[in-house]
Amino acid sequence: MKLGKYSFGVGDRFNHEGVAQLNALIKANSKGVEVTPVWNKSNREHNIVHSEPSGTRLEANEAIKKMGWEGPYFVDADHINLTNVDRFIEHSDFFTLDVAIYIGNASPSEDVAAFKESCKIFGEKVSIPGIEEPIKITDVLLNEVACKFLAAIKEAGKIYEHIKSVKGEGNFVTEVSMDEVESPQTPVDMFFILKMIADQGIPAQTIAPKFTGRFNKGVDYVGDIEQFTKEFEQDVLVIDFAVKEFGLPEDLKLSVHSGSDKFTIYPIMAEIIKKYDKGLHVKTAGTTWLEEVIGLAVSGDEGLKVAKEIYTSALARKEELCAPYADVIDIDDNQLPSPEEVAGWSGEKFGNTLRHIPGHPDYNSNFRQLIHVGYKVAAEMGEIYTGLLKKNSEVVGQCVEENIFDRHLKRLFNL
Ligand SMILES: [Zn+2]
Repeated sequence: MKLGKYSFGVGDRFNHEGVAQLNALIKANSKGVEVTPVWNKSNREHNIVHSEPSGTRLEANEAIKKMGWEGPYFVDADHINLTNVDRFIEHSDFFTLDVAIYIGNASPSEDVAAFKESCKIFGEKVSIPGIEEPIKITDVLLNEVACKFLAAIKEAGKIYEHIKSVKGEGNFVTEVSMDEVESPQTPVDMFFILKMIADQGIPAQTIAPKFTGRFNKGVDYVGDIEQFTKEFEQDVLVIDFAVKEFGLPEDLKLSVHSGSDKFTIYPIMAEIIKKYDKGLHVKTAGTTWLEEVIGLAVSGDEGLKVAKEIYTSALARKEELCAPYADVIDIDDNQLPSPEEVAGWSGEKFGNTLRHIPGHPDYNSNFRQLIHVGYKVAAEMGEIYTGLLKKNSEVVGQCVEENIFDRHLKRLFNL
């Protein structure tokens, strides 16, 4: 299955914004850049919202039908492993095999020996076109990468084989992700990870490493831009080399998780993929939920009341809500407004505080991150929340579409 050169993951916690999200991609396509929509939702999100993968499929199919979309589109079982993949298999045609938790697990000594033996083809060093420093192949390095990644990629192999046994070969897109960890993977790590993926016979079309720097949920990139630029470019070159040398799928490309709102690095990624004529997949999810809250707030009345309630509850339950996202949020408590202060806000003030417009005097990234993890509160409101989404669907939909097209796709694809 062909994913296409450029693809964009549009996660949607409550399954109400499929049409608005697709409209943003239709706008990009009308500007001449073909971008494949992928509706991604993780097991974690389903568990928190109490939704089922069938709902994501339904949302995608309905949006496609309503808007007459004729291009490819996918439903991504995001961040799955052997313990939870089964609920997704029927409804998804894109699977993100998340093996981050297996990084560093011990492998049987015969597996390590076989891996090291298979690396003998490299000789003493590997020179990757475009990268100045060759990779020096030493026993120490091979032991190190085997220790870190071999068990994890073997696990990815098992998950892939399981999905293949049900769906059949070639009937789904495979991504391997290891982004939700503390220490980033270097381009050298990427080289060996791809070697192991090829050895396992996984036809990966996207790979999601942990990049250098902080990819906090719903807010801009924080980190060493120069280092990110260097590593992103080297990753692209390593992938190009691995595709040719290891026989991985020709369209293999990087997948950037927590990819929404990373406005600082969008032009950097855009320039590098253009320079080497490569593809890119960017995943977003919570940024759409945040637009729902903005849309409700600016709608006023009940919508604003509920938006304020979501913040107040999220603040009171901060520890609980932040726990599943510990590696991907940074909230400075001192910068969070008190519930009393927020109670006095207009819808416009609430929207401006939450909306991601860097440099806007009201914008508060701490407030934004807390609401980002607060979707559990809205899920518990049940129909009070979803009823308001329906009632204010026009305003909310406009917010969602504008966010994805104007703030994301325009920056990412230079539109
Ligand atoms: Zn991820």
